[in-house]
Amino acid sequence: MKINVIQSQENIGEQYIFEFVTSANDLDVIVDQYSIQGDITVKGYIVNTGNAFKVSGNIDLLKHFQCDRCLENFTHKQEFSFSEEYKRVDDIVLDSDEMIGFSGDYIDISDLVREAILLSQPLNNICSSECRGLCIKCGANLNEKDCGCDRHIMDPRLAALQKLFNKN
Ligand SMILES: [Zn+2]
Ligand SMILES: [Zn+2]
Repeated sequence: MKINVIQSQENIGEQYIFEFVTSANDLDVIVDQYSIQGDITVKGYIVNTGNAFKVSGNIDLLKHFQCDRCLENFTHKQEFSFSEEYKRVDDIVLDSDEMIGFSGDYIDISDLVREAILLSQPLNNICSSECRGLCIKCGANLNEKDCGCDRHIMDPRLAALQKLFNKN
């Protein structure tokens, strides 16, 4: 995913749009917890601020995962935005951690896009914040129906006491 900087180099303040279509394979975002299906679309623009090349845009993709609670499979559409500043390293020494160096006529945003996708993922794969998960007794999907099981978990000390009472 290389953006040509030649035009924007000469025209400070002008926005030049770019669009890439890539995939999880090409971008190397293969992880165990989920998969990204089909195209990953990256759209945005580059602008020469006079001080740096600012690259901003959006990433669109379909994430396929198994819900940690109800174990059903889901495909959710995700959209992320990104913004980063790049500076030539051949004519200037990078003085800031906030910028990324590049040289030549192209800025490769593959690393930026890969990180934006990976870092945007929640720690858990949950189909919805309202997901009720599975019944701990019979395994029914509680989003579909209430199986009617008593899922009250008794404190073991109380359970021992109740046993005693039941004996008497
Ligand atoms: Zn779920
Ligand atoms: Zn049940």
